Amino acid sequence: MSRRKKSKELCVYCGVEPATTRDHVIPQCLFTPPLPLNTVTVPTCKDCNTKKKSQDDPYLRDMLVFDNDCQHHPVVQQLLKGKAIRSARTNRSVVARGAIAAAQRGMQPHHSLGGLYLGHYYLADLDAVTINRILSTIVKGLHYKVLKQRLPDNCTFEIGRLDVLHIEELWAHWQRTTYNGPYQLGDVFWCAFMYVAEVPGATTWLLFFYGGICYSVATMPTGMTDSLLLEFNDHVTPGEGPSVKYKSKDDGVGRKV
Ligand SMILES: [Zn+2]
Repeated sequence: MSRRKKSKELCVYCGVEPATTRDHVIPQCLFTPPLPLNTVTVPTCKDCNTKKKSQDDPYLRDMLVFDNDCQHHPVVQQLLKGKAIRSARTNRSVVARGAIAAAQRGMQPHHSLGGLYLGHYYLADLDAVTINRILSTIVKGLHYKVLKQRLPDNCTFEIGRLDVLHIEELWAHWQRTTYNGPYQLGDVFWCAFMYVAEVPGATTWLLFFYGGICYSVATMPTGMTDSLLLEFNDHVTPGEGPSVKYKSKDDGVGRKV
């Protein structure tokens, strides 16, 4: 690519400013050395990279590594001995501050989305707005990387953390469909997605972190109704019904720590 053409490339995230840097879509702080060779980077402007996304990276790391569902993972164990715990001890971690406040409230009963009692845990509040911003930005980056085009700016995002009890069932459903992926970065992250070629911006993603936490992200162009989208999805999901049939609720405000 010529230098001139490159300088005209727009930021994948905002679509307004020229791209002058490259951002790691899946933040490097989620890994311990050595980094996987296939880290995903996309062209971005300096503001989106250093002022916006980079400042959210520690939040994502901490909400994952302090979560009970990731404790089994060796990289999480290492992060908990290093950067994550240092950030908590120096009071720089927003997530850790919430967890400390939760500990003072004592253990609370925790239920699955379906209402099943899962045990007593310290339940910390997470900021749904921040989580949605982080995950929608990641999906913008992944979309550009795998489909070679920006996600349209008029998209809405529907984001939900999957109930751990339903992940296997959902993944079994996906395996009977025409999904793309999985794309994997070490054993820290993997994702799979479906898209509707006739409707730019209509996509559904599964984002899996540390083999313990899975988020679903559905994107839809504004004005596209669910029923119309379901019609399109009948074409890409032979025999198993519409691929966006599953929709999770955004429960981004409760988690086990
Ligand atoms: Zn930008």
